Formats: sequence, C-alpha cells, structure tokens
Amino acid sequence: MCNITDPKLLITSHIKTWSKSSAEERVNPSNSILLCRLHDGLFEHGFISLTDDYNVLYSPNFDFEGQGLTKNLTFTLPISDPPLPAFLKAHRVKHGYE
Ligand SMILES: [Zn+2]
Repeated sequence: MCNITDPKLLITSHIKTWSKSSAEERVNPSNSILLCRLHDGLFEHGFISLTDDYNVLYSPNFDFEGQGLTKNLTFTLPISDPPLPAFLKAHRVKHGYE
C-alpha cells in the first residue's frame, strides 16, 4: 500500500483472524498479507480493509486526516498467492464493513 520495502519495517499478518482460522487456513499463504507496520496496524484494527477486487476500504471510525493520513491507498497485488476473497470477507465482516 506504500513504497516501504525495508524488511525491518514490513510484517506479514493473517487476514482472517488466526484464532478463528482452521489449521489449513493458518498456513494458507492467501490468508496472509505483507504490509508495512503502519498499514499493518491500520489493517489489524480494521481501520482499512479490502474489497474482493482489492480496493481499499476506509473505516468511518478512524480519523485519517487527523492522523495525517490520506485516503488514497492502492493495494499492490503480490506476485503469487493473492489474498482470497473468503479471507477478505472474513476481515470485512469482523470489522463491520458488511
Ligand atoms: Zn505501508
């Protein structure tokens, strides 16, 4: 979602909550997303989410402008194992987008 590439600033996290995922889902690479620590924090807390076609959704419950953040993010698809719609839907449902 941004241009940060330094591995020390990147983190991989589950899209569908680890504790709610099956053993198979936990190791499915399409249930993970690589983001910088800022965007991981926004995603983890549900302040941003993704549609099935990878458009970024913004929570009305977070003051992006007040935190100095713009709402013009684009998600760059990974070269393999893109996030599966089922996992993205679980994230949207968990965080009240649907
Ligand atoms: Zn980022």
